[in-house]
Amino acid sequence: MSVLRFDNVSKRYSGGHDALSEVSFEVAPGEMLFVTGHSGAGKSTLLKLIHLSERPSRGAVLFGDRNLLKVRGRRIALHRRDVGVVFQDHRLLADRSVADNVALPLILRGLRRGDIGKRVRSVLDKVGLGARAEALPTQLSAGEQQRVGIARAIVGEPRLLVADEPTGNLDPTLSAEIMALFESLPERGTSVLVASHDPGAGQAHEEARAGAQPGAPGRRHLAPGPGPVSASPEATKPQAPAAKARPQAPRSRLGTWFDHHLYSLVASLGRMFHKPWATALTIGVMAVAITLPLGLWAALGNIERFTGSVQQARQISLFLKPAVALDRARALADELRGRADVAALELRTPEQGMQELREHSGLGEAISAVEGNPLPSVLIVSPKGDEAMLAASLKNLPEVDVVQHDAGWRERLDSWLRFGVRLAWVLAILLGLGALLVVGNTVRLDIQSRREEIAVLQQLGATDGFIRRPFLYLGLSYGLVAGAIALALLTAADQALRDPLADLARSYGSSFTLRGFDLRQAAAIVFGSGLLGWIGAGLVTGHYLRQTRPIS
Ligand code: ADP
Repeated sequence: MSVLRFDNVSKRYSGGHDALSEVSFEVAPGEMLFVTGHSGAGKSTLLKLIHLSERPSRGAVLFGDRNLLKVRGRRIALHRRDVGVVFQDHRLLADRSVADNVALPLILRGLRRGDIGKRVRSVLDKVGLGARAEALPTQLSAGEQQRVGIARAIVGEPRLLVADEPTGNLDPTLSAEIMALFESLPERGTSVLVASHDPGAGQAHEEARAGAQPGAPGRRHLAPGPGPVSASPEATKPQAPAAKARPQAPRSRLGTWFDHHLYSLVASLGRMFHKPWATALTIGVMAVAITLPLGLWAALGNIERFTGSVQQARQISLFLKPAVALDRARALADELRGRADVAALELRTPEQGMQELREHSGLGEAISAVEGNPLPSVLIVSPKGDEAMLAASLKNLPEVDVVQHDAGWRERLDSWLRFGVRLAWVLAILLGLGALLVVGNTVRLDIQSRREEIAVLQQLGATDGFIRRPFLYLGLSYGLVAGAIALALLTAADQALRDPLADLARSYGSSFTLRGFDLRQAAAIVFGSGLLGWIGAGLVTGHYLRQTRPIS
């Protein structure tokens, strides 16, 4: 069965331009095919149809027994792993060593790290770059970079290798070197399809090769472009290559999953440390956005607790008329104690009132100088049941001068607290949204600066999940660190306020102290913030992937 077959394939771009028309050809296993034509003839379009960067307008492209028209969604990425691609501009990732670049297709396939190392070394030896494995692509010459590109394309032992103008940027000597490299591939069972604008490229090559090795596998020419195209009739039939077992990775899904996640985690941490200032800024803004509503929440929780303790002492003070004698006050106290809606009652005599004033007002001597005792008797009533009704009925007693009942301010305080809680919610939502946008924007910038890399990974067969994952980890890391910082800020604020507030409360006779976050709340804050970062990154990456997907 042929490795690749085009059946009457036509491609019309949206502008109405016909790039290919009725193209039919086949590539046999172990065959090397040159696609030649002037610039604009449709060579790149043809290659794009093979690695599913474009879809044909008419006709069918078959890869083995796989009809590419039916390959959709995630299977597009999996299909690309079966096609090795060499670009004119090699598209190596500049921030990774030669070995790491070449390892990418194997990482995507989920091979074990040990196997990856072995295969990368072997393929680098094969292209003559064994000694440069740890170099960065920028430290290599143009010819060497192209050889790395070829190594990356063949390391996964694809059934078909497609090369778009692979020698376009190279001088004749280097071109010959690269071509010789392609030449050796069909012998290993990989079919090769080389696109070149130079009509002599394949021919010259074929002649040189035929002279050297008469029984070599077949090489043919194909000239695409609008108009019927087929393989040239004098094409030699290729020999069937020695069947070569393609080592498939006998790997558990869990192992692959773990390796992919580890790879993503390392990549995302690398990104964070690569740009420390941008990272610090993002995390700082996010931490503040989280701290503010949480701080407000904590404050409200404490106020609520404080007023709760006040509410327990819902007392009503009855100031009796000055004319009411102490005996009458005592009798009244006894009478009221008998009422069903009174839980307890305490009589504070004018004498006790004076004593208190002397001790607490700091006006001891001045008060001693006052003749007589102008203070009234006071009954302090603890209500049982509806305090407002009790206060109203006590007000009608003839002995009572003034009723002091603080229900009013408590109601107002409750209203303020309800308002505060609502405000904290609104703030939390707004600032949470802000934190989401901050992470989203940072990830967006990161994606923008890695567009090339993403495109290369997609070309090598990375799924959306694989591409999205380092960014998700990035967002998660931002969120977790920001959450931890927010927690630290809140704890510091709590520590700074705790003692002065306790002193203040004590001066009012209260034993109130601030309450910070317990372990569960702390964990919820950090993980909630991490989740926020994850969601922000996920939204932005998902949007980018949808926007840039050439086909579905
Ligand atoms: P080659 O690789 O042989 O130079 P291409 O396959 O790149 O040719 O292009 C073939 C023709 O299709 C050209 O005329 C080009 O302008 C057109 N073309 C290529 N890509 C697109 C596109 N995305 N939209 C519209 N026209 C395109």
